[in-house]
Amino acid sequence: MNKLLCALALVLLAGCATTPGGLVIDNTYDAKSQDSRVQFLVIHYTAEEFDSSLKTLTQDKVSAHYLVNANPPTIYRLVDENRRAYQAGVSSWQGQTQLNAASIGIEIVNKGFRRGPDGNLIWFDYPPAQIDAVIELVKTIIKKHDIRPDRVVGHSDIAPQRKTDPGPRFPWKRLADLGLIIWPDAEEVAKKKPLYEKELPSVEWFQHKLAVHGFAVPYSGVLDDATMNVIAAFQMKYRPAKFDGAPDAETAAMLDVLTAK
Ligand SMILES: [Zn+2]
Repeated sequence: MNKLLCALALVLLAGCATTPGGLVIDNTYDAKSQDSRVQFLVIHYTAEEFDSSLKTLTQDKVSAHYLVNANPPTIYRLVDENRRAYQAGVSSWQGQTQLNAASIGIEIVNKGFRRGPDGNLIWFDYPPAQIDAVIELVKTIIKKHDIRPDRVVGHSDIAPQRKTDPGPRFPWKRLADLGLIIWPDAEEVAKKKPLYEKELPSVEWFQHKLAVHGFAVPYSGVLDDATMNVIAAFQMKYRPAKFDGAPDAETAAMLDVLTAK
């Protein structure tokens, strides 16, 4: 359609748009098959104070769409949601590996952990007001892009071999109670647990179930470091009281319930 016709059509149909470059594009028709490019939401902690977090996320080669400070709880938008942020790194979830291109990343200001006197890890709490802000942000993003609850994940879910954020103090259960993430039904877990207490499933079973849940996990058939890292990531999210990566009956029951759906 030439510009004159388009101008006429514009009056009649309101169906043309002209870009700043002068290219005339007719946007009368909308395809049914379309959705947001954003399919995943990834939650992180920064492992640093606010100032250094902001500097890293705005001036280095890593970035995130949002940075949530604790005091006062403030949400900073660093990358437009329509553009790619570099927050996921080498990662995988449900077979998808191009996660930077398909996700929105939220970085929460939290120092992660410090070493205790005997080398143990002491994790930093998230102030409730900061979590309230994160939850409101998560709700808004999920609604806008129609992100499925099984695709709202932590960095440790998508990169369990090298990441532990947002860590065991992040209250995933609060997100579950709001329907924002999937969570194993406690009654069903209690029903299945005694079976697995009698006999723990094989390592192959764990590897298969973890993969069905979404993790990239080796099918080695042996309890190697890589498999234990994945089990630990799962436990950190769903049972943060104990996340040593060792297979146990409760972990098996939770995995079974989650993957049965
Ligand atoms: Zn991270």
